[in-house]
Amino acid sequence: MSPTAPWTVARIQTSLHAKKISARELATEFYAKIDRQNPVLNAYLTLSPERAYAQTDRVDAAIARGDKLPPLAGVPVAIKDVIGTSGIRTTCGSKILESYVPPYDATAVARLENAGAVILGKTNCDEFAMGSSNENSAYGPVRNPVAPDRVPGGSSGGSAAAVAAGLAVVALGTDTGGSIRQPGSFCGIPALMPTYGRVSRYGLIAFASSLDRIGPFAENIADAATVMSVISGHDENDSTSAAVSVPDYSAEIEKPVQGLRIGVPEEYFAGGIDSEVKDKVLAAIALMEKLGCRRIPLKMPHTEYAIATYYIVATAEASSNLARYDGVRLGLRVSGATLLDMYRKTRERGFGPEVKRRIMLGTYVLSSGYYDAYYLRAQKVRSLLARDFSDAFQKVDAILTPTSPTPAFKLGEKTSDPLQMYLADIYTVTGSLAGIPGISVPCGKTKAQLPVGLQILGPHFSESRVLQLARAFERADGFSI
Ligand code: GLN
Repeated sequence: MSPTAPWTVARIQTSLHAKKISARELATEFYAKIDRQNPVLNAYLTLSPERAYAQTDRVDAAIARGDKLPPLAGVPVAIKDVIGTSGIRTTCGSKILESYVPPYDATAVARLENAGAVILGKTNCDEFAMGSSNENSAYGPVRNPVAPDRVPGGSSGGSAAAVAAGLAVVALGTDTGGSIRQPGSFCGIPALMPTYGRVSRYGLIAFASSLDRIGPFAENIADAATVMSVISGHDENDSTSAAVSVPDYSAEIEKPVQGLRIGVPEEYFAGGIDSEVKDKVLAAIALMEKLGCRRIPLKMPHTEYAIATYYIVATAEASSNLARYDGVRLGLRVSGATLLDMYRKTRERGFGPEVKRRIMLGTYVLSSGYYDAYYLRAQKVRSLLARDFSDAFQKVDAILTPTSPTPAFKLGEKTSDPLQMYLADIYTVTGSLAGIPGISVPCGKTKAQLPVGLQILGPHFSESRVLQLARAFERADGFSI
């Protein structure tokens, strides 16, 4: 293996076993790289070396004793800053939680650590995960490591940039309407949104509770599969986590894809799609056909309503979830002459403009007189969108689309026009509303060397199949990146 090959889970395991490097040395190597690159990328908001080295020492002691190592032993990971970490500041990219230190770990974090992972720190994101470019963070934007004048995507931009730049081997992000898949696509790495309920949301700070999911960014599909096996499964602390057994994803991904039916919905290749993105994704689909998949054209007639539906449902839930930041229970407090004055000043100073916009939109669509016209209607359209998918999955095993209509855009390009920013979520919000899993895998670069992502969507709890198709593509294409 060449010395410049990226660190992967498999390479770390081999190197640790062969005593070529210790877990402590590996973490030190990553922190040195973060010191060099983070001032430009701004991917990490908080580093947690104390916790990281306590873990590396446990791993190194286990190696010295000759113990059997857990699946992520010594693997440096990054955690999006909306996911709670005991004793480590968790800001949600917001001023309102600038000094919030959670008293407990999110289940996904605890499971990673129990599997031997080393938590290097917390990554930058759009405030409360609201955004598609990471420019809504109160702590400054993240730069795309592939093209530093461009956005890394959002809202999990810091996690995507950290993995793409080699500042973490894997990272956790969250996806409510595309926030794992789209930054994965912009930064040129695999990024998986699991089925709703597959991974516990306990300890995840809520944006839109019926949509929020935690999932991995990784260097390759094998690593994404390993992380999924570790973080998936029922959790009694999250009543929406599913009691569905967790497959051995690492074994499943190597199965042949011959004969699988792949659906290609025409609505995802129309309108404002960038022509280079379209060409790359169609070429990727052609490659899957060469591997023995059967291509089936699809119509998904409700797709055009997805953005409006998503931005009603998500903002409604956000307005309710964010009511808890009142200066009393947790986070920032700005004192005022009266209780109301204190609420007003706290929320005025603590929240950024996009969060305020969403709270107002969400409060509006839930308010009496507008509830039926907006919120209730959006719930009905959500059912129709979900039906588009369940109908499609009668005919196909998976659906292949672009992840985003464009490659990474320039910093500042869309900040003055929130609607343009929302419209860029067109291909990701559908799967979010339907609750199904989806992965973005790199499928080449544009002439300007910007990564393009292929999205693979599957029925509920079909992560194995989604990963299996992604792995077949990776094997055949080498991710051409
Ligand atoms: N871009 C979408 C939004 O701003 C999705 C965000 C997310 O998935 N967290 O709501």
